[in-house]
Amino acid sequence: MANVFDNLEIWWLSGTQLLYGEQVLGQVDAHSNEMIAGLNASGNIPVKIVYKGTVKSAQEAENLMKAANSDDKCAGVITWMHTFSPAKMWIKGLQALQKPLCHFHTQFNAEIPWNEIDMDFMNLNQSAHGDIEFGHACTRMRVARKVVVGFWKDVNAQKQIGVWARVAAAVADAKKTRCLMFGMNMNNVSVTDGDRVEFEQRLGYHVDYYPVSSLMNYFKKVTDADVDALVETYKKEYTIKIDESGEKVYWEKVRNAAKAEIAIRRVLKDENATVFTTNFDDLGDADINDPNFCGFDQIPGLASQRLMAEGIGFGAEGDWKTACLCRSLWIMNQGLPKGCSFLEDYTLNFAEKQTSILQSHMLEVCPMIASDKPKLEVHMLGIGIRNQFTARLVFTSKTGAGIKATVVDLGNRFRLITQEVECIEPKPMPKLPVASALWVPQPTFEIGAGAWILAGGTHHSAFSYDLTAEYWEDFAEMTGIEFINIDKNTTISGFKQQLRNNEVYYMLNKALK
Ligand code: MN
Repeated sequence: MANVFDNLEIWWLSGTQLLYGEQVLGQVDAHSNEMIAGLNASGNIPVKIVYKGTVKSAQEAENLMKAANSDDKCAGVITWMHTFSPAKMWIKGLQALQKPLCHFHTQFNAEIPWNEIDMDFMNLNQSAHGDIEFGHACTRMRVARKVVVGFWKDVNAQKQIGVWARVAAAVADAKKTRCLMFGMNMNNVSVTDGDRVEFEQRLGYHVDYYPVSSLMNYFKKVTDADVDALVETYKKEYTIKIDESGEKVYWEKVRNAAKAEIAIRRVLKDENATVFTTNFDDLGDADINDPNFCGFDQIPGLASQRLMAEGIGFGAEGDWKTACLCRSLWIMNQGLPKGCSFLEDYTLNFAEKQTSILQSHMLEVCPMIASDKPKLEVHMLGIGIRNQFTARLVFTSKTGAGIKATVVDLGNRFRLITQEVECIEPKPMPKLPVASALWVPQPTFEIGAGAWILAGGTHHSAFSYDLTAEYWEDFAEMTGIEFINIDKNTTISGFKQQLRNNEVYYMLNKALK
């Protein structure tokens, strides 16, 4: 898949006013161009920044913001007040803006030239003054934005803009994202349900039901030649490991898994969807022994694993919220070294000093997070309507710090919950035929897991080694949903107070706007 950042731009607007005269305005332009070239060359911001000129009037601000809204390539807007730009000039533009905003508080010049500084120099280098005026208007108007503070050549400042740009790209993508639910969500499950109309309004993802019977029409049409070619790919990418099933059943199941993968790929392409969910109770015809049986003979877990690695969002048991979040996670994570996956809290390991949680799923863990070459295995899976030998990729995952994320529907709003975790080395689990990771929540298992439960978190999550809470905070800011993070400083009493405060804040928030 092409790099998703390549088709996007970040617009840069420099703020000033006409007071300073032509010469100064020329310098604002030159400075802006040099800074943008430097930021683009830094390698820390994956989306190209494009200079859209110096804003000197309310009309210019409004025109540019409206143009940003209607340009599909524009993922967000960076503003920087080179000089003093009286902020009432920005009101109508900020009211119009529907794209993510990053206010960069920086200055072209680094150190004060102590022996040379005069009134002209001071007047030209007054971002300290101009950015505060702009910031006041944003706060007064309750404009959601990220404020990045630092010298423009400073790597920390560049990286903060890089995070924001990655998130802006994911938010732009979410607005175009369609999720297909193959079947509904699992009966009786509360946390995977919610308001799909509100979900689309807030976050952009469009979630549709897609009949499994229609998916079966695709499945039936997959040819042996198509399957042969995909199985050859499997042989190249994975270690073939044949055991309990025997060779004949192994290849039969792998071939059927390939057939399912091809069918799902074709439906997603034809339906212009980049996210899907499955339900292990809804896999086509119920009776596999019926001579006219038409259905998947096994949960299409191998397909889910492989598609996730290509950026297709996935959620099991019809979990459309986590599935969509996994798509955005993959966009934000693109090109970063360690990877991301859909995961589920499975089994606790109580240990005196370091209680941990085994993360896994029936099958569907993304091979991006594997610490070694995945093994393609076939084992019995005794859950759902198919008690069958089932193909899957088996591996253990990398160790190190990471963050898990979820979105829950609280009835009056969506809450994005994140938790920082430390992935540790598990002991060998020779009888567990499924991919897994083992982690310790921050700050401890007891506080971390307790806070997650108090926040109403899910058992499914969108996990990454590479992202940090900063990404998800930006994501929540851009989409206007609640954000709460559990990290090394979390205490249960403090966290409960934060939940209570947020309850009030989100009740009043709409009234303030
Ligand atoms: Mn599950």
